[in-house]
Amino acid sequence: DNLTAVSVPACFDYALRLYQTRLHSAGVEVVRHWPDQDVWVRADLVRLEQVMVNLIGNALQAMNDTPTPRLVLSIEPRGKEVRIGVADNGPGIAEEHLKRVFEPFFTTKSSGSGLGLGLSISSRIIDDLGGRLEACNQANGGALFTIVLPTSPDTV
Ligand code: ADP
Ligand code: MG
Repeated sequence: DNLTAVSVPACFDYALRLYQTRLHSAGVEVVRHWPDQDVWVRADLVRLEQVMVNLIGNALQAMNDTPTPRLVLSIEPRGKEVRIGVADNGPGIAEEHLKRVFEPFFTTKSSGSGLGLGLSISSRIIDDLGGRLEACNQANGGALFTIVLPTSPDTV
């Protein structure tokens, strides 16, 4: 591991740049819900970016048939923790799948389009940083994934 102080907004910006063309062609409205001041966590930069890329990629796929796709990215510092959210307005996760989405090779996608490894690897990466990755459905039915990480002590 290569742990340094990592800017969470900069990670989101990186992932958004990567998906820029796809987001645009799919007509996805992107909402950035985060404070003006920077938010720092202690992490491996590349791995945290990878987690965000995974979550945004899943959200994009989930909104494939959504008439007005909307991606809401949020960063909420809460005391000793930072809550980092990726929310979509796709169909959400079936109740019976909610507990299984972090299992290796669990996928509801047709063979070829999903290996079912993204979330298991992502949750492992976040666990290793002393945090957790949570999945739930929102009131509007779309999925919400929340990365909870300890705030970087030496940069706050
Ligand atoms: P894959 O994307 O290869 O299927 P993942 O580990 O990334 O594997 O996700 C596992 C499963 O979790 C998906 O197949 C899907 O059923 C569910 N899932 C993940 N993200 C979302 C989302 N944003 N909306 C609805 N379902 C999701
Ligand atoms: Mg995936």
